[in-house]
Amino acid sequence: MNLDISDRIALVTGADSGIGKETARRLLEAGVRVAISDKAGGELDRTVAELSALGEVVGVEADVTDGVSVTALFSAVRDQVGDPDILVNCAGVTGATGDFLEVDDKGWLETLDINLMGAVRTARAAIPAMRAKGWGRVVLIGSEDGVQPYVDELAYCASKAGIINLAKGLSKAYGPDNILVNTVSPAFIATPMTDKMMAKRAEERGVDVERAIESFLEEERPGMALKRRGRAEEVADMIVFLCSERASFINGANMRVDSGSVMTI
Ligand code: NAD
Repeated sequence: MNLDISDRIALVTGADSGIGKETARRLLEAGVRVAISDKAGGELDRTVAELSALGEVVGVEADVTDGVSVTALFSAVRDQVGDPDILVNCAGVTGATGDFLEVDDKGWLETLDINLMGAVRTARAAIPAMRAKGWGRVVLIGSEDGVQPYVDELAYCASKAGIINLAKGLSKAYGPDNILVNTVSPAFIATPMTDKMMAKRAEERGVDVERAIESFLEEERPGMALKRRGRAEEVADMIVFLCSERASFINGANMRVDSGSVMTI
């Protein structure tokens, strides 16, 4: 399938790892010029070096919780590759978990600041240039949790419900400018985020990680009919499709990539 975006420029946040990194890889394979971003302290230079065999890629460190940092990110991307036509906001964390009565304001606010406000800040910075060009694609990353809350991670669930709602609202506001905004909502994908969750579960239960994954699928994710973790590239394929010319009539959707985890139709 010709995605027809080889003349486009993309910015992917949270791209030093997991779903963001695979999305950057797929966009490069589609001929897109790509800026990847992540917070300081990771391995962004190494990721740029790894991906640079596939096409033109630059790396810019930025923290999505800091408005000044996000402004500087867009300015650096503009200088190095041009204003993004495509924004994929993958930066996110599990955030504060545990019994609702035990999670304090700080835990809630940090989770919402990274996951929800990070999407707000990056979309707000990206949309004006897309509007001027008369073409744009914004993909925000929600989660199955956004429509199917789990009681031990309510801050995360609320942040992802907010993202689905935000994307729907932006799709109405900027669809008339030919800026299409959609959410992709994965479930239990094999990335460093769930690696950490499974390492903790394995330790708590005194089992190996494979057994922890099996028991998580059985007990916590019964709707995942394929009985395995997803792969980051299985999510990236949907994201890149939504970024493409082939998705020219898809706006305001929440696309589930969850093997059936969400129980409702
Ligand atoms: P990941 O941990 O591999 O990647 C997340 C990236 O976000 C990391 O590189 C991290 O450094 C970056 N990040 C965190 N805080 C940041 C900040 N303040 N500023 C900039 N970057 C920051 O996890 P992933 O699984 O690839 O997650 C990507 C997105 O997918 C997240 O929004 C996550 O909530 C969502 N998601 C993941 C799963 C899953 O099962 N892995 C399921 C549903 C949704």
